[in-house]
Amino acid sequence: MADDCLFCKIAGGEIPAKIVYRDDEVVAFEDINPQAPCHVLIVPYRHIPTLNDAEAGDDALLGRLVLRAARIAAERGHAADGYRTVFNCNRGAGQTVFHIHLHLLAGRNLNWPPG
Ligand code: 5GP
Ligand code: ZN
Repeated sequence: MADDCLFCKIAGGEIPAKIVYRDDEVVAFEDINPQAPCHVLIVPYRHIPTLNDAEAGDDALLGRLVLRAARIAAERGHAADGYRTVFNCNRGAGQTVFHIHLHLLAGRNLNWPPG
């Protein structure tokens, strides 16, 4: 756990969030400022600041984030209509919380390319 990291604190239960899934490695919760009717963040407990900091040994963990997003999308009925999964990496891509997280967005038409 990193000091003063919002998502370490949410994962550790220090700061409340609407948790939708939890296992021994990842937690998923509702985004506080949703950009779509469904906007969930899937987060590893381990503090990895950005995707640039992930290593070869993290492949299973990253896969777990992606598969969990797909599972949550399916549970909410978005599998057929579609959904988007996004890692924003660093400020130029809009990353504001420097603890890796996968966005799951669904429930509306999602434009491409994104802004
Ligand atoms: P980023 O911009 O880093 O890719 O995504 C950070 C996300 O975290 C944003 O979508 C933002 O709304 C969300 N967020 C920021 N603070 C909080 C919080 O305290 N609780 C929750 N649940 N989400 C947060
Ligand atoms: Zn953290």
